[in-house]
Amino acid sequence: MREQETIYTIPVNDAFHAEGTLCPLCRLEATTDSNLIEYYLGPSLMEPDVRQTTNEKGFCRNHLTRMYNSQENRLGLGLMLHTHLLEQQKRILALLQEAGGTERQGGFFARKPQEREAAAIAADLAAISTSCVICERLDYTMGRYYDVVFWQYFHNTEFAELFDKGPPFCLPHLAELVKAAGTSLKRADRKTFFDRLRERQGAKLEGLAADVEWFTLKFDYRNRDKPWGESKTALARAIRTLEGDSELT
Ligand SMILES: [Zn+2]
Ligand SMILES: [Zn+2]
Repeated sequence: MREQETIYTIPVNDAFHAEGTLCPLCRLEATTDSNLIEYYLGPSLMEPDVRQTTNEKGFCRNHLTRMYNSQENRLGLGLMLHTHLLEQQKRILALLQEAGGTERQGGFFARKPQEREAAAIAADLAAISTSCVICERLDYTMGRYYDVVFWQYFHNTEFAELFDKGPPFCLPHLAELVKAAGTSLKRADRKTFFDRLRERQGAKLEGLAADVEWFTLKFDYRNRDKPWGESKTALARAIRTLEGDSELT
């Protein structure tokens, strides 16, 4: 492992060591996400280079909502939103002007925008809303974490055991893991990794389906007095396994 990657090892190990039924990568992502929100609402927002980035890229709906709802540093959030708005205002108005078209030289009517042009302008407007400095950093950091996961899986027996026996990966993270393994692992390691991943995930999914089934069977009056076992949390675990961590009440 390269020297700079060692700083990514602790959060990975914490997430895989944690107790509970949550996907370890959901846990890892949630911690990283909270740290990034804290960072952007912290003293960093007064640093000119940070502000230059937030002015340019802004935040997505999810992250702005979470920053606002955290109730932390509303002044800081206000300062960031102010300069971001000033910068984006110019882009938004320029795009709208482009959508309106320019008058043809010598022509009487303003040129009507072609449908393709309007769609392209709409895409640029939508991109202002979805562009997010936290999402970008989160993607980058998760990429480094995947490298650490793979490195440890093949160089650290204790970690490999932890990985194999942990809770199931949610489907979105399973997809990310497969994608990352495809680019990071050597062919021979890939075979080992995917075989073991399949075995691990298969057993977990089977157990989960059985728990969900028992949940439904508990509604049968004949099973009323039988124990719930692990089924009480089965629906929430199934939803989290299919879709990733979500705020279920
Ligand atoms: Zn997950
Ligand atoms: Zn975001």
